[in-house]
Amino acid sequence: MSLERQLAIDLEKLRAEDLFRSLRPLQAKRDVHIRKEGRQLLNFSANDYLGLASHPKLLESALKAGQLYGFGSGASRLICGSLPPHEELEVEIASWKNCEAALCFSSGYAAAIGALPALAGAEDVIILDKLVHASLVDGARFSGAHLRVFPHNDLERLRSHLIWARKKFPRQRVLIVTESVFSMDGDRCPLKEIIALKNDFGAVLVLDEAHAIGVIGKTGAGLTEEIACNGGGVEVQIGTLSKAVGASGGYVCGNRNLIDVLINRSRSFIFSTAPPPCIAAAALAGIQIIRTAEGARLRNQLWNNIHLFFRNLNISPAESPIVPWIIGSEAAALETARCLENEGYLAPAIRYPTVAKGRARIRFTLSAAHMTDEIEQLGRCLFQFRHKVA
Ligand SMILES: *Cc1c(COP(=O)(O)O)cnc(C)c1O
Repeated sequence: MSLERQLAIDLEKLRAEDLFRSLRPLQAKRDVHIRKEGRQLLNFSANDYLGLASHPKLLESALKAGQLYGFGSGASRLICGSLPPHEELEVEIASWKNCEAALCFSSGYAAAIGALPALAGAEDVIILDKLVHASLVDGARFSGAHLRVFPHNDLERLRSHLIWARKKFPRQRVLIVTESVFSMDGDRCPLKEIIALKNDFGAVLVLDEAHAIGVIGKTGAGLTEEIACNGGGVEVQIGTLSKAVGASGGYVCGNRNLIDVLINRSRSFIFSTAPPPCIAAAALAGIQIIRTAEGARLRNQLWNNIHLFFRNLNISPAESPIVPWIIGSEAAALETARCLENEGYLAPAIRYPTVAKGRARIRFTLSAAHMTDEIEQLGRCLFQFRHKVA
């Protein structure tokens, strides 16, 4: 059979299972206001939690860096691509996260697939929460380590994996991998308890703060800041510069030796061109805003919006700006998303393999850029939807 024919069969199978995906580009975007297929929509699906992606300071900083250094970096960081905006960004991340050092990558995905194989090999053990992001799963697989998965936030099962790992591999490194805020469920990990378990078993904690930075903590430095374990309790912190920070890229932070090992061993860092300096400069500007009074005001606005949305829907508790509406069947989730779009809201259906089969959902995300009446409007719309369904 020709490749063409095989691919057609693959695609047909996806369509039959309601798992086919296609790109439907927006025509315009300005904070939460977007234009798609000729219609004005309110965006309830971005990860731009503070609205910084449209902030003039980010654009200004990017332009300035572009004028100084040009657009492309020209090479990897280790060849000749390391420029002042990269260094300044890393110093800023380390200071913000209260760590000795940081290293930036071209995306959060690249950070995860670069870090895990640099830290664990075939003799080691990686234990992951069942719901961690695909980038961490891929990173763990690339490492070739022995993998174990514990049910979401299940501390007892995590403990039994740790007991197993310590018995079977007494001298090897054991990594626990989890997230501060889970990207498709919006709940948090029990960080204090996980740190305690990790310490009991002499394991290492890798924490992805992708959806927590900018959103949680006094200066928006994430769940590590909120539970006051900055630097101390979490050896490896991963994050992205493409969500609340409003730019693009990823980072890993921790002690200096960790960062030096990553510079020497992370393949997605070594064998990839340095992020454009203007993007690093925009990320730096984003973090600087997050750390100031303006950032605190935006964070406050975001949490007011989150609480308002939760009150309107009569649900609790609000742990993050991510609100999943679990529908179940892929077809029904697609239909719901279509109805929402007819009503003027963009909140797409999230399906397998992003979430488990039969756990399809609408994933709403809130932003500081939403207006009170926009959230109330959506609340009323959803209330009617629920009545129709019930
Ligand atoms: C979005 C996300 C990433 C990937 O970050 P990018 O910068 O978009 O590549 C990694 N981990 C988690 C938990 C995420 O939600």
